[in-house]
Amino acid sequence: IPDYAADILAEDELLAQTVLVTTWDKLIKNLDALYNWGRKSSIWPMTFGLACCAIEMISTAASRYDIDRFGAGLFRATPRQADLMIVSGTVTKKMVPIIIRLYNQMPEPKYVIAMGACATGGGPFKEGYNVVSGIDKFIPVDVYVPGCPPTPQALLQGLMTLQAKLDGQSIKHAPWYRSPLSEPVPPPL
Ligand code: SF4
Repeated sequence: IPDYAADILAEDELLAQTVLVTTWDKLIKNLDALYNWGRKSSIWPMTFGLACCAIEMISTAASRYDIDRFGAGLFRATPRQADLMIVSGTVTKKMVPIIIRLYNQMPEPKYVIAMGACATGGGPFKEGYNVVSGIDKFIPVDVYVPGCPPTPQALLQGLMTLQAKLDGQSIKHAPWYRSPLSEPVPPPL
């Protein structure tokens, strides 16, 4: 037989050897593993800081702690290209509508880390007139990182906790569309 025919035969034999037979559940499980690996290895945080905790977040992205090692070093300057909001600092009442708007502008699937005592529960300003007692009253939070401020290692631990959470999700629930949250009216000046 001519060479080209031999090549075609070889390709057919190769194809016959590479056909996989699987069940629907196993297929979903394998797709989940691949899909989740892709998501957790390519997290794009938003460039967004509110107060002192943001300094530790910036430090996490610098060479000493190198958040890039965890696939989350590409901080984006627009919410439309980010899938992780790290609420790093004191959340004032006037800032809440802006945070909700930024959250709404992020594409799904998206995640939120509340970094530090202020973002988690108001911190030392909890009883103040101008600070809210936790950003989770307004947007869904996936991971809480305690501390005032949390160390860069603690933020990395929070990131790994988020990655473990992503690992447990299934493509069957994708896309995780949610309705936009309503923005509260900011208090008057
Ligand atoms: Fe600053 Fe502490 Fe609040 Fe972080 S938790 S923003 S370090 S006061």
